[in-house]
Amino acid sequence: MNETFQAELRDVINRCSIENGSDTPDYILAEYLNNCRIAFNMAIKERQKHKAIEEANLRPCPFCGTKRTKINEWMYGAEVICECGGKGPEGYGESRKIVACDLWNRREEPKIS
Ligand SMILES: [Zn+2]
Repeated sequence: MNETFQAELRDVINRCSIENGSDTPDYILAEYLNNCRIAFNMAIKERQKHKAIEEANLRPCPFCGTKRTKINEWMYGAEVICECGGKGPEGYGESRKIVACDLWNRREEPKIS
């Protein structure tokens, strides 16, 4: 689909002589526009993940009781960490941040006897 879309963009650019304004070959403009679309989709996806994390409304730290937590993320995983050194279970995969928040919020409270 990507190559077909880009080829059709190139044809439209060429047919309408849109490339004349910037003296840029139609195939370069088509690639640029297609890459803009891809970057926009990635930004929307990241925004949705960010909002999901904000909306997760993290519960207070079970070790110190504060909400001074943040998400620590690396290439394959993520975890909620607290200033006190407490940390939650790790989430993996594309939605690792959301999974880590969910695991943090679903944990059992420590039993004090
Ligand atoms: Zn803590």
